[in-house]
Amino acid sequence: MITSKTFLKKTRRGSVLKVVREHYLRDDIWCGSSSCVQCSDPNPSLEKQPKSFSTLYTEPHYLIPDTNVVLHQMDVLEDPVFQNVIILQTVLQEVRHRHSPIYGRIKEVLTNKERHFHSFTNEHHKLV
Ligand SMILES: [Zn+2]
Repeated sequence: MITSKTFLKKTRRGSVLKVVREHYLRDDIWCGSSSCVQCSDPNPSLEKQPKSFSTLYTEPHYLIPDTNVVLHQMDVLEDPVFQNVIILQTVLQEVRHRHSPIYGRIKEVLTNKERHFHSFTNEHHKLV
């Protein structure tokens, strides 16, 4: 399935451009959760019962930080207490575009299996 996004962009000279981007939506992108019964991910990154280390919210949960949290709180995200974190593809792209050293740091955390971080391809995911 193809979908398109349309947005307006202002150029440096001040004129306005209409930008249309097409992208495919796929139904075979896994959510990464071990508790999911719809995806057939053989090796999900996110734990079924993530342990909460927070005193503010004690129920099992996943974290989904936005771009600003990744850009400005990377030291905190690198702390081993943060586990079972979903990093959206759009957040990764924005971080790569704005600050490549932090992009390298978040990619490093994503490769550490003990941290249970999952990169989710949100822009191409088709809800089923
Ligand atoms: Zn799933």
